[in-house]
Amino acid sequence: MKYIIGNWKMNKDIDDSINFLNYLKSIIDTKVNCSILIAPPIIHLPVLSNLFSGIDFVSQNIAFDDFGAYTGEVSAKMVKKYVHYSLVGHSERRQYFHENNQILYQKILMCLKYKITPILCVGESKSHRDSDNYFSVIEEQLKETLMLLNDVDLSKLMIAYEPVWAIGTGKTASLNQISEVHNYIRQILVQRLDNSKGNKIPILYGGSCNASNTSSILVRNNVDGLLVGGASLDINHFKEMIKIAYGLSS
Ligand code: PEP
Repeated sequence: MKYIIGNWKMNKDIDDSINFLNYLKSIIDTKVNCSILIAPPIIHLPVLSNLFSGIDFVSQNIAFDDFGAYTGEVSAKMVKKYVHYSLVGHSERRQYFHENNQILYQKILMCLKYKITPILCVGESKSHRDSDNYFSVIEEQLKETLMLLNDVDLSKLMIAYEPVWAIGTGKTASLNQISEVHNYIRQILVQRLDNSKGNKIPILYGGSCNASNTSSILVRNNVDGLLVGGASLDINHFKEMIKIAYGLSS
């Protein structure tokens, strides 16, 4: 199974979102072995999930607690009616909201408590890439979050490898760079779980994906899907990516 996830970030008002999804729903084919998921701004989730029951939604974020005095936060308990998935630890959350691995571990626990699949985002900064420290950064991001889970819970996660220097920059990681890290993450998962469970955890790539690189990235071993930011905002472009992914999956 492949996954294409559109992360709209803080873009699209409710009318734009409805127009986009009206078009998207005519393209989605549930018989193809490729899931199309959309992460709209959280505030739109109740309306969109009600109007578009055939589309699977993703929360862009989740609070680290169920409820309480956390002004501005939205908990897994609140969004579970609308989504089956949540991003956890997107690099913009790490950068602008100072979310560290300890907080992200709490967020993963919240997702699991409310039966939401966490999609943990990991990835190195440009300086860690340039100094050849990317393996250790990614290892630490995994060790301090999902590797603390028991095997059953760990098997419920998804992972997105998103090199920070490739997000929103137009500088996609090279195919070799993508494979190197995806194979490394897979090896960590297989070592920790058994072969069959470790191989089942989806590992997605994100970072300046578009219609021109969709095919070459998706066919790589251990790449189970794409997390798409900018290119998911334009329905015509996103449609091209979906067509390519469907072509590879049927
Ligand atoms: C993202 O935000 O997860 C992302 C990959 O963005 P972009 O596709 O714009 O690089």
